[in-house]
Amino acid sequence: MATTRLDVVTAEREVFSDDVDEVVAPGVEGQLGILPHHAPLMTTLLPGELLIKKGGEEFYLAISGGFIEARPDRIIVLADTAERVEEIDIARAEEAKRRAEERLVEGIPGVDTARAEAALRRSLIRLRVAGRRRRRRPTIQV
Ligand code: ATP
Repeated sequence: MATTRLDVVTAEREVFSDDVDEVVAPGVEGQLGILPHHAPLMTTLLPGELLIKKGGEEFYLAISGGFIEARPDRIIVLADTAERVEEIDIARAEEAKRRAEERLVEGIPGVDTARAEAALRRSLIRLRVAGRRRRRRPTIQV
């Protein structure tokens, strides 16, 4: 099966680098599935889950937006922030969620609603990804 190189980086670090079978990314215009030998493409990513398929396994990363560049031989994701499942601090994400919800409910004067909503979205994505485990896709027996 054809594979393609995937590099997921942030300004701070390299989060993932390996040969993969497919990537499904949260594109601005919807879920974007990218297979090896994809036509050149560059687009913006929304906060969400980045699904990586490799050798029958699926990995998830939580990302808070960024860019994706696909070339026939490699895929590069430049993410604002990105964490693998095992890196996510659940207590921290729950605390961030609680804080954001409090700000939104209270409607405190001076609270930047868009900022609180963005923080809430990041925390929910982290919690969702943290709940994911490495899964094996069912293989069809012939
Ligand atoms: P917090 O309020 O807890 O800092 P945040 O959404 O404001 O959350 P970000 O600004 O998105 O945090 O991220 C800052 C840095 O902290 C990034 O490097 C990000 O990967 C990391 N990070 C944020 N939340 C978590 C978490 N729950 N677990 C692991 N790393 C996290």
